[in-house]
Amino acid sequence: MQVTWNDIKQHVDSCTQCPLSRIRQRPVMGRGSDHADLMLIAEAPGGDEDAQGVPFVGRSGEILDGLLRDCGLSREQIYITNILKCHPPGNRDPKEEEKDACFPYLKYETFLLKPKIIVCLGRVAAQRIISPDFKITRQHGTWTYRKNYALTATYHPSAILRDLSKYEAARQDFCEIVKKSSKLKTKN
Ligand code: SF4
Repeated sequence: MQVTWNDIKQHVDSCTQCPLSRIRQRPVMGRGSDHADLMLIAEAPGGDEDAQGVPFVGRSGEILDGLLRDCGLSREQIYITNILKCHPPGNRDPKEEEKDACFPYLKYETFLLKPKIIVCLGRVAAQRIISPDFKITRQHGTWTYRKNYALTATYHPSAILRDLSKYEAARQDFCEIVKKSSKLKTKN
């Protein structure tokens, strides 16, 4: 059977695979272009996202939009999602069992999107997707190649909100991501 975006959304909307289903307000499915070359993956929805059911709204969303704009991108050109689709209370790190329970949705999103570049936003996503010992401070902006896509990581917008000095490093990472994306396009 061919899985569709609508199938994934319906499953996420009614999912009870982990205890976060009992305390979430709204599950948060990924958003953006379903033909995007760039897939951004963060760890989990925050409080604003939980209330609105949309990824990266509120102040961290403003930071993300600023980074995209500075590098000539818009949300309509990317796809953005989280490993967990439900908000962990108090913005705590996702538990391993929650990540395991939710990971199949991310796999289906990746399968349908077939991105050329995956960008992990923050330590938690980078350690789950790139390498368990990934050090975001030292390794952001580095590249790993796997199957049909290139992987990189940069700071999570919430980390930038807590320390605005990280904005410039993340901006440079995003501009390199845009360059890499153009190079990959011209190769194909
Ligand atoms: S976090 Fe994922 S696995 Fe847990 S209830 Fe939400 S959608 Fe289901």
